[in-house]
Amino acid sequence: MKKDILSYAPEELSAEIELLGEKNFRAKQIYEWLHTKRVHEFSNMSNISSSLRTKLDEIYCINSIKIVRKLESALDNTVKYLYELPDGNHIESVMMEYKHGNSLCISTQVGCKMGCNFCASTIAGFKRNLLPSEMLLQVYTAEEDSGKHVDSIVLMGIGEPLDNFDNVVKFLKILSSETGKNLSLRHVSLSTCGLVDRIYDLAEYRFGLTLSISLHAVTDEKRSSIMPVNKRYNISQLIKACKDYMDKTGRRISFEYAVIHGVNDTAADAEGLIRLLKGMNCHVNLIPVNEIKERNYRSDRNALKNFASALEKGGLNATIRRTLGADIDAACGQLRREYEI
Ligand code: SF4
Repeated sequence: MKKDILSYAPEELSAEIELLGEKNFRAKQIYEWLHTKRVHEFSNMSNISSSLRTKLDEIYCINSIKIVRKLESALDNTVKYLYELPDGNHIESVMMEYKHGNSLCISTQVGCKMGCNFCASTIAGFKRNLLPSEMLLQVYTAEEDSGKHVDSIVLMGIGEPLDNFDNVVKFLKILSSETGKNLSLRHVSLSTCGLVDRIYDLAEYRFGLTLSISLHAVTDEKRSSIMPVNKRYNISQLIKACKDYMDKTGRRISFEYAVIHGVNDTAADAEGLIRLLKGMNCHVNLIPVNEIKERNYRSDRNALKNFASALEKGGLNATIRRTLGADIDAACGQLRREYEI
């Protein structure tokens, strides 16, 4: 089987190219062809000798992913992509337009093991981790298709990024490399359901990215009932890890709270949230829940507004996430499920 050349971090590719008996600058040239000029064939690397191109072609492959469905919003230019991976699996990405630029939400796994009750991505279970190249290709393919530059990236699509830790770390290194897309990791948000051990590990890299915690409830009983991960790492362990992350990186944490009517949107829930987060350098993102046909969850507009104003009054910095692409609305993971059924 050929090696996946797009998944190499710059220093790894240098080591590979050196093993082929080539000078180090060749690795830099090849890296630029792959990640800046984004050629799909070794034969297009015009400043590389034909003997080296042939050798590269024998040993490595340049992966690609295919757009099999694309939903475009007529309201706000949001585009939802369903991609087919080389092995026939499917994943989703969503491109959103903001005043500050274009943001792409990408997937990190095919399916998810975490079993959060409100999430369509987990219903059919977990298939496999994505390779670094498959995360990058979501970005490159969306840019190529749309002709737009992706200015920020959110790891919040299908999958739990910290459950695919090594590949996500490598993806971040490639994404931010000077000879690659050269995206500052300050423009990246990583969302986790709360794999505490991995939050400590991530802090050690001091990447400067924004950590987003899917919190969704403020008591262990309630959180465990909607997010099984809470049985492994409870809320107080999670908050401790968040504080460690803030101390080590100096970055503010974002807490995601999907407001589910009758489940976690009462005045007592708001008070609990204020108590839990007060004094932390953080932001609370309130998320109106997308309806999923397999789950009986929804948000109530009034309860959501009352919840937000209670948090503001309690001194928490909170916003209700704007719904983009309402006319192509489908909860994350929904498009893939519909396609595969
Ligand atoms: S919310 Fe995230 S972690 Fe939870 S099941 Fe869905 S994809 Fe997995």
